[in-house]
Amino acid sequence: MSIKSIKGMNDLLPEKIHSWQALEAIFHELFKMYDYREIRTPLVESTALFSRSIGELSDIVSKEMYTFEDRNGGFITLRPEGTASVVRAGLQHGLFHNQQRRVWYQGPMFRYERPQKGRFRQFHQVGIEAYGWSGADIEAEVLCLSNDLWGKLEIKQPTLEINNLGSVSGRTSYLQALKAYLEPHKSELDEDSQKRLDNNALRILDSKVPATCAILDSAPSILEFLDQSELARFDELQKLLTAMEIPYSVNERMVRGLDYYNNTVFEWVHSGLGAQSTVCAGGRYDHLAEHLGGKLLPAFGFAIGLERLLDIIEASGQVSDSPKPLVYFISEGSSARKQALVLARELRNAGHSVQMHCGDGSFKNQIKRADKSGAMLAVILGEDEYKKGKVAIKLLRDNNGAQRSVNMEHMVSSVAELLNQID
Ligand code: ATP
Ligand code: MG
Repeated sequence: MSIKSIKGMNDLLPEKIHSWQALEAIFHELFKMYDYREIRTPLVESTALFSRSIGELSDIVSKEMYTFEDRNGGFITLRPEGTASVVRAGLQHGLFHNQQRRVWYQGPMFRYERPQKGRFRQFHQVGIEAYGWSGADIEAEVLCLSNDLWGKLEIKQPTLEINNLGSVSGRTSYLQALKAYLEPHKSELDEDSQKRLDNNALRILDSKVPATCAILDSAPSILEFLDQSELARFDELQKLLTAMEIPYSVNERMVRGLDYYNNTVFEWVHSGLGAQSTVCAGGRYDHLAEHLGGKLLPAFGFAIGLERLLDIIEASGQVSDSPKPLVYFISEGSSARKQALVLARELRNAGHSVQMHCGDGSFKNQIKRADKSGAMLAVILGEDEYKKGKVAIKLLRDNNGAQRSVNMEHMVSSVAELLNQID
């Protein structure tokens, strides 16, 4: 039986990789504009890192992690998200000692979920994190950066929903009120929500089941449990968003799947994604460093799902072309091939990409391949040309295949000349 990739884990093939690379280039540019620095952490971490940070009762930790026993008996986990590792690395290397930090990361994440459109077991995220700022200004900056991204990608703008989960103590009071409200309705709730009532009641707010939603309509709002300073900061954020002309709505039912968030949380939701409609999600997680043995550390950030983002880009009708070589190098005979390898290097040193014909192949066959490669030009070195110290340069696109013969030492300048003419 042939071996296939693991279910929900996809190969990114050469035919499609350029759209990933184009997207990554846009991210790099954007992060430079906002002065965020990249951080790279291992794909595998101690299991405790995630159970302590994301929360034992979260879906991720309770049923989605890829956890293995290491050969020494310890438990290790393929990272399901990036933030816990960044905080771990920051604490380990003293990055947060009296310092503020803006960082970004990218890479594969692993969650054992049911694979479907926009949901995979290995998927990719790009995320940013700002450490050391507790105000609404950094929140506005991070939201502004994500807003800029949609503009740079020229896609239909996702809609921004924000909420405020309050402080730990505010949320405890809210949970009591929510449970007190839901308890009498328990039998009318869907099965999942009934289970969550005891140990993860906040997540009930996330339910998409109509009967549960109807009951939630009259549930107390989490915003009523914010204290004065939290309300002021949330209000300030909204004023900043308005000033930056970033449309948003407050969704007091939005909670996030990771337990470490406090106060401001947000999601960018796109209508073209079907059930998996959130493309970017994040918020504040001031207590995460404490859970991992550090001090209180104000933190705000988000993660974007790249597969979902690429779906949106594709649906917007944008096609980015595969890169093509500029020159296809054709040669016949072993002496000519040797010379061809030397000349191809000269072209590359002059900044032109060259696909070298390697292996056998008649002249006709090589021309066919040159055509198929998408190259603009073929440089041809047959036995005859080789003996005369010449190469032929052939235009492959339009121009009726015009060809000129030049001395080898003029090859690079002739190629440049021809390219100028085409432009
Ligand atoms: P969802 O509600 O869709 O499960 P989540 O709340 O679990 O998302 P986060 O952990 O906040 O998502 O991750 C941020 C982003 O990463 C999501 O908005 C989404 O774009 C992407 N993402 C999360 N899980 C997956 C997955 N299994 N496959 C593909 N993308 C994912
Ligand atoms: Mg999820």
